[in-house]
Amino acid sequence: MTTEAKRTIAAVRADLAAKEVSTRELVADSYARIERENPRLNAFLALSPERAYEQADRIDQMVARGEDLPPLAGLPLAIKDVLATRGIPTTCGSRILENYRPPYDATCVERLESAGAVVLGKTNCDEFAMGSSSENAAYGPVRDAVAPDRVPGGSSGGSAAAVAAGLAVAALGTDTGGSVRQPGALCGIPALMPTYGRVSRYGLIAFASSLDRVGPMTTSVADAAALLGVIAGRDPRDATSAAVPVPDYVAELDKPVSGLRIGVPREYFGEGMDAGVRERVEAAIARLEQLGCRRVELEMPNTDYAIATYYLIATAEASSNLARYDGVRYGLRVPSDTLAGMYRETRGTGFGAEVKRRIMLGTYALSAGYYEAYYLKAQKVRALIARDFHQAFEKADLIVTPTSPVPAFRLGERTTDPLAMYLADIYTVTGSLAGVPGISVPCGNTSEGLPVGLQIFGPHFGEALVLCLAHAFERAFASEA
Ligand code: GLN
Repeated sequence: MTTEAKRTIAAVRADLAAKEVSTRELVADSYARIERENPRLNAFLALSPERAYEQADRIDQMVARGEDLPPLAGLPLAIKDVLATRGIPTTCGSRILENYRPPYDATCVERLESAGAVVLGKTNCDEFAMGSSSENAAYGPVRDAVAPDRVPGGSSGGSAAAVAAGLAVAALGTDTGGSVRQPGALCGIPALMPTYGRVSRYGLIAFASSLDRVGPMTTSVADAAALLGVIAGRDPRDATSAAVPVPDYVAELDKPVSGLRIGVPREYFGEGMDAGVRERVEAAIARLEQLGCRRVELEMPNTDYAIATYYLIATAEASSNLARYDGVRYGLRVPSDTLAGMYRETRGTGFGAEVKRRIMLGTYALSAGYYEAYYLKAQKVRALIARDFHQAFEKADLIVTPTSPVPAFRLGERTTDPLAMYLADIYTVTGSLAGVPGISVPCGNTSEGLPVGLQIFGPHFGEALVLCLAHAFERAFASEA
């Protein structure tokens, strides 16, 4: 049986098929790890053993009957707490949804379960996915699995820590401005943000609807490909999900990468980048060149405006999306003598400081008199940033950059300076605004032993190519180590 921290989907399936282990045992093993490690990591907010063992028994019966196993048979899976799970607490890391149990499953959860995966529970995150460190979490911060005095990144920090510490073999995160890729980078695991529209958002509790995406966080690029293959595709319950055919991502992983043009945008290697990060990313690019990729220098001149644009659009959409938490329909209600008082008390008590800051920023940007100056302007700049990507993909097949300018930072180090926290999203928000897919793949550690991520962007619906290069890099890198 595979007991080491880095378990993969293929290893789990092989163990099950060879009857080395039962799904029940696998699930029990995951829960034992969680019991041991979670008090320290705070990666899980809720566990769903009843549902997990029911699914485990279903898989074990298939094994007993000698049936063909589904692609994700027995996969111990963690789900970020912004994705709806029927009957299982879904809080978005917020007091305002404390004890909320949705009556339905998110499409991606439903699809993963149908493919044989076992939902272990829900993972901690920044409140409503607003943050880059998992410290804006109402139920306490997540701790980094590698360096316990540091953050795991965010907002999908619980999912990243759970996978990095081997509590789950894979996890779902969500990415609005970097929340899958950045914690993946900081925790040293592959993490994929698919193209906007590639994966259904049905059941993803909205932060910023034009940016929100669901993505896999795994121990290998091949596992990310396998998960994407299951969750991708049109869903009639999400009008923004695209009717674009889903390729066999796993089958395409081994395509040759020699001759691919990899674009290196100048703007992603400027000031503010940690020296250790720069060194690892430069070394990774050199490794890709050794694999036969051709380095192309790029200019993406609107990159500088991406942070401002992102924080206008994301907060504007958030202020509108979060209006629904009024104490009437969901979660927390703090009574008061008047209706307005009840709204005020409920929202004042239920939301944390960062969420309130964003609702205020977003409301301001959308208000009469400021709409043109801020929101509309941001939409125009968003189009320019997307154009940078379109033009870059005329010269290059893929774009490579660092995922985060810094490795995992210390808990509390940035909590008093929201602007510094926002600025660290500089390399991820561009691709979010442009709607393109991007992966973060581990490319070694800094001299302090902190993981660094290489980010690979591809054109719209170019996940197969993104995964292919990430996979080739992962293999070359592993053979080096
Ligand atoms: N760090 C970014 C923010 O705070 C991105 C968060 C996300 O992708 N959900 O908005």
